[in-house]
Amino acid sequence: MDQPSRKFLISASEALAMAESAAVTLPELLPTLVPTAQPLAPSGRILVGVNLEFPGLPLHHSVHAEQFLITNLSLNAEPHLVSLAVSAAPCGHCRQFLQELRAAADVQILVTSEATAEFGPLSDLLPQRFCPHDLLPLEAPLLLEPHHNTLTLTLHHQHLPNYKLKTAALEAANKSHAPYSGSPSGVALLDCHGNVFKGSYMESAAFNPSLGPVQAALVAFVSGGGGDYDQIVGAVLVEKEDAVVKQESTARLLINSISPNCQFDTFLCHCNPNHIV
Ligand SMILES: [Zn+2]
Repeated sequence: MDQPSRKFLISASEALAMAESAAVTLPELLPTLVPTAQPLAPSGRILVGVNLEFPGLPLHHSVHAEQFLITNLSLNAEPHLVSLAVSAAPCGHCRQFLQELRAAADVQILVTSEATAEFGPLSDLLPQRFCPHDLLPLEAPLLLEPHHNTLTLTLHHQHLPNYKLKTAALEAANKSHAPYSGSPSGVALLDCHGNVFKGSYMESAAFNPSLGPVQAALVAFVSGGGGDYDQIVGAVLVEKEDAVVKQESTARLLINSISPNCQFDTFLCHCNPNHIV
């Protein structure tokens, strides 16, 4: 296999060709692509996830492969996850994080390290689940569904430098899934080649499995072909001025730790329900 762990999205036509040449179905193809976690989206696209660990930082800053996958689905505007193949059984944290998806109980999961590797529903791995609907109305948008958080930058912000990075962070904040705290946020990263990568904060109903906006932007950086973290030279966080949950201190800590010379700025916004970005 041609370095599947370095390629984070396989197109539907490519996936079909791979399945045909191996004389297997698309779901049967997934376990052959693991050592990393691989989900199949309804569009037929295959996306890849890996663990991200940050040396020197507390372990709870890490990104698990399944969270990487969900972020990758979100970055590629995939609204549904059908099947997922993974090298080891998802940890409790990830079983809970996956609950943020619509019809999470039906997501089919195959663990390749098990002797009888077969797809089974997520509900088998987490039968008594605590889910978004314990806290939110049924119609509330879930993790991969469209969000319009109506955050706006003021005219003052628009005249400051880094406009491209700020607008990317604002866009990410407006797509953030933060229904439990009502504190959406987004981060945009700039690398030394001028590329911009953005990520949205994603909350879990159980709070702790939530994924921070810097981690989400780092998923975009890694899956977008970014190099070493010290190539990140600029970072902007956008969050609400009166946010109950504030990201700034944690985001600064993480950015400073992985790329000490990176310029980090925060811009505080207001919600404007009449303005949909
Ligand atoms: Zn996990």
